[in-house]
Amino acid sequence: MKGDQSKAEFDAVIVGAGFSGMYMLYKLRKEGFSVKVLETGDDVGGTWYWNRYPGARCDVPSMEYSFSFSEKLQREWAWSEVMAGQPEILGYANHIADRFDLRRDIQFNTKVTTARFEEKLGVWTVSTESGEDFTGRFCVMATGCLSVPNTPVIEGADKFSGDIFHTGFWPKEGVDFSKRRVGIIGTGSSGIQAIPVIAETVEHLTVFQRTPNYTMPAYNKPLTEEFRQKAISNYPEIRREQRESIAGIVGYGFGFGGAENIEPEDQILKTTAEEREKLVEAEGFAAIRRYLDVQIDPEANELACEMYRSQVSRVIEDQQVAEKLMPKGYPIGCKRPVIDTNYYETYNKKNVTLVDLRQGGIEEIAANGIQTAQGFYEFDTLIYATGFDAMTGALERINIEGRSGFKLKDYWAAGPRTYLGLQISGFPNFFTITGPGSPSVLSNMLVSIEQHVDWLAELISYMTKHQYSTIETSSAVEDEWIAHVNEVAQGTMFTAKSCNSWYLGANIPGKPRIFMPYVGGVGEYRKKCDEVAAAGYEGFSLRS
Ligand code: FAD
Ligand code: NAP
Repeated sequence: MKGDQSKAEFDAVIVGAGFSGMYMLYKLRKEGFSVKVLETGDDVGGTWYWNRYPGARCDVPSMEYSFSFSEKLQREWAWSEVMAGQPEILGYANHIADRFDLRRDIQFNTKVTTARFEEKLGVWTVSTESGEDFTGRFCVMATGCLSVPNTPVIEGADKFSGDIFHTGFWPKEGVDFSKRRVGIIGTGSSGIQAIPVIAETVEHLTVFQRTPNYTMPAYNKPLTEEFRQKAISNYPEIRREQRESIAGIVGYGFGFGGAENIEPEDQILKTTAEEREKLVEAEGFAAIRRYLDVQIDPEANELACEMYRSQVSRVIEDQQVAEKLMPKGYPIGCKRPVIDTNYYETYNKKNVTLVDLRQGGIEEIAANGIQTAQGFYEFDTLIYATGFDAMTGALERINIEGRSGFKLKDYWAAGPRTYLGLQISGFPNFFTITGPGSPSVLSNMLVSIEQHVDWLAELISYMTKHQYSTIETSSAVEDEWIAHVNEVAQGTMFTAKSCNSWYLGANIPGKPRIFMPYVGGVGEYRKKCDEVAAAGYEGFSLRS
């Protein structure tokens, strides 16, 4: 072991073998550290291993939703579409595991249940469901922001007699939907991706929609070799721009969202109703992306929502169905943007029924369907597209104990507290990748993952070189960071009173309503992390 200052078996124990855990392993191993990765699943890929539902794909151009750390890797992997589907992204994860020989340090089928800081020894003991213990100087949680599927508690759910699936826990062998009558609950990103594809083969599909979403057409298409080569030769510039940007996305020539020729311009508040109507007619949903005031001004936002609803009514043939699909009463841009392929067109199909739960909610699940206040809907297969216990879910499901048996779950009872989304006071040598308080889910996650992992690997090397044994932040430093995270989120649509997003924990009953990610942008955030490191890890105490 390189930093052999303790009785630990490994320099670092990492939990999770998605993109975060894989890259953390690669990076620490490259620096000469000994590492063990523990993963519940039986292979790598995280999100892309679990979310195998029909239609699953990324909504960031794949040439950008990919790692930049290896020049060879980014040259040799040839993405086939602008936004790749789940099988291709999982293939990419497997390629990384093979290419860098990662699996030899990953133990699969291993669920971590406890991580405890042994104060006297200065090591972390990470314990698994099957009773194994692993010790490390450092413990890195690469457990994912969207890795704990949420299945809502609905009366009678256990009585359903047919097959039950969750988009976030989809069977590897897939599901043959022909001859099935399917009910699906949820119209977030997962539901909106799955519904059009399932509707293609199913006998009948009934969609239970509690809140209609704002979703934009993806305009996905195959990538030509010519485009790929051009993008590859522009990678240095693309990567630099990604790192300095707000969301970690450049959208370089990708035609992302179909609005590539639209320069954001005037304020929507300065337009007339006729102008807006004409624009929607000409450009469809993309017209709404023109205006910069929509994200910060509620009045402007409502005008954009009206444009949106007007386009919904254009796409949908039956105006009663169109009315059901129209989002109302909350701002556009308060939830994670959703993009789709043929979502609205699906509701023009004869084998699809939309149940607008605003007109009468679910009362109970029966053996053969769902009883709502507006009637009974019969089907033989039930799909939950009901999202995740996001950002804190995976961490709070592990019994994490810091100094003096101090429990993370208790410390976070009123909402997550971190410094930079990287560390938590009372938990020395313990780190979270893309934790709450970092840009994480508001960004192209691969950009954020690379930044966190690079920063942590440099920190661990620094500590080893200078013979520091522990690093720890304080509650006062956390307070300052949390105040800043809150300050930048104020006044945006993300924190509007009428917004009930999973960013705020609002999708899980009883979860504290706190805006969890950092909205300041990946560029600003990176600058801050670099300044902290340059100042000798300001805000952290390093001890020998
Ligand atoms: P994950 O991929 O979630 O991996 C975490 C791993 O930790 C999992 O394999 C899990 O099994 C394991 N784990 C958790 N708890 C334990 C435990 N107790 N013991 C052992 N193992 C454990 N982001 C984007 O930027 N662009 C996109 O287009 C995009 N699309 C998405 C689509 C879907 C359907 C979902 C769900 C998310 C999407 N995301 C997207 C976010 C996505 O989660 C990240 O991009 C990225 O894949 C996260 O990687 P990760 O390694 O941090 O976490
Ligand atoms: P989600 O956005 O949280 O959506 C969950 C859906 O289930 C919502 O429509 C919600 O309705 C509904 N729901 C939950 N409980 C319900 C109940 N008891 N009764 C009726 N409806 C209920 O989850 P998701 O769609 O899985 O997406 C989560 C995140 O994963 C996304 O925001 C995104 O970050 C990521 N993702 C990305 C992509 C992509 O395009 N790349 C695809 C999938 C997922 P309410 O809105 O009323 O709560």
